Amino acid sequence: MSKKVIMLLIDSLMYPSLQKAVNEGKASALQFFMDHGKLYQDVVSPFPTMSVNVDSSLLTGTYADKHQIPGLVWYNETERRLINYGSHIRELVKLGLMKSLQDIFFHLNNEHLSKEVKTIHEELADQGLTTASINTLIYRGKFDQMLKCPFPLNIIPSIKNKNFTKGAKQFTYGSFSKQSPRKKYSHFWNRYGFNDSFSAQEFIYLIESNLLPHFSIVYFPDMDKTVHKHGPLDTKGLQSLDLNLQKILNSFSTWEDALTNNIWILLGDNGQAPIENDPERALIDLRKLLGSYRIMKLREKTPSKEDEIVLAVNERMAYIYPVNEVRVPTKDIVKQLQSDDRIDVIAYKKNDHIHVVSSVKEGELIFKKGGPYVDPYNQSWEINGNIDILHLSINNNTISFDLYPDALARIYSSLTSHQGDYITVSAKPGFEFIGEGSPTHVGGASHGGLHKQDSLVPMIVTGTKSAPKYLRIIDLKDWILSLI
Ligand SMILES: [Zn+2]
Repeated sequence: MSKKVIMLLIDSLMYPSLQKAVNEGKASALQFFMDHGKLYQDVVSPFPTMSVNVDSSLLTGTYADKHQIPGLVWYNETERRLINYGSHIRELVKLGLMKSLQDIFFHLNNEHLSKEVKTIHEELADQGLTTASINTLIYRGKFDQMLKCPFPLNIIPSIKNKNFTKGAKQFTYGSFSKQSPRKKYSHFWNRYGFNDSFSAQEFIYLIESNLLPHFSIVYFPDMDKTVHKHGPLDTKGLQSLDLNLQKILNSFSTWEDALTNNIWILLGDNGQAPIENDPERALIDLRKLLGSYRIMKLREKTPSKEDEIVLAVNERMAYIYPVNEVRVPTKDIVKQLQSDDRIDVIAYKKNDHIHVVSSVKEGELIFKKGGPYVDPYNQSWEINGNIDILHLSINNNTISFDLYPDALARIYSSLTSHQGDYITVSAKPGFEFIGEGSPTHVGGASHGGLHKQDSLVPMIVTGTKSAPKYLRIIDLKDWILSLI
């Protein structure tokens, strides 16, 4: 009998703090998995390094050029409106709360996630194998599932109480769809069940009821907040995560027994970079930097004739949309962005070439898919200009990456993830972007960027000697399918 595969997806898990917590004896469950498995320090996350994009890449094995979820916030040119899957309640209220809730609860999985790609749940269902999805933001599967509005959302007349969706066979989505009869940790003051303790409780229910499917994925969201607040080296969040992992291990007759018939994969989704303490310096206010242009206000909902730019801010990354190319050419906006020394990567598409400039390096790097240069992931490229902008080195036509892992494919994917001509910017560690109503993390940490601090996550694997082809989140799907 083949082993069951259990993936624990841990928001903002990073190697340095993991090692620190284990060395200080503060994380016995994580230590147990590490002692009985193999640790990979640097798995590359997609760009932008935001959970919805990461989940989509993990489940479909593709970057955003294929799965088409560009980030947490993006502008839909066809519908002429900003899509926001939940950056901050302030932004959601301005964009229209009902519309935003529909985007989060329905459009994300059922419409925006491309139908041209298959999730792990869909692939395994096609093979007659079972899967469970617990609290992940992306969950699309082949089974009809109902999302039922919990109290007090269900007393708001304009919110539909029941929404149908397609999910994994065993499906938990906070208190909107739960499996265990236990109610603890699922109330509105527990963020409707979107918390680590509820994820663990639902998964333990599957273990104790002998309902473990061939593949389970369980998402632990809490560390995102603690790392945002206390910075990348904080271990408090890890300690409380570890208590939940201990509970999971305790639900087997012994901890060793948990390893016998299962392959465990513990994985981070994105890293976080520290943010400086002085708000004036730490926050790159795009409304000020691009102050000479008229920027669409969120309440307008759709750009007016006078508007020149739309901003979609994803923490340390932003999409910038010139909505009036006649009055405001892309190159003028790019020049303006280049005047800020906190922005190290500025990229845009022109015909089928990608142009990359920076505020800290001279010149321009221009690249295109297909060509004489091959990167470590066997992707080939045509490259011209200053390769130092992306810290590339080229030796005998072989590219290596440094500060920006898998930079070419990740930039390319973000610029081809949705319709339109737009600019992507990524900030140096220490800084994050803000627009109207953006969340801020001064003195803490933040993510979204292309930099390796946002992009490298650890992975612990027990119960198999096999390894993914490459250490990138998009390479895990094929590997997982091969394990089952
Ligand atoms: Zn976050």
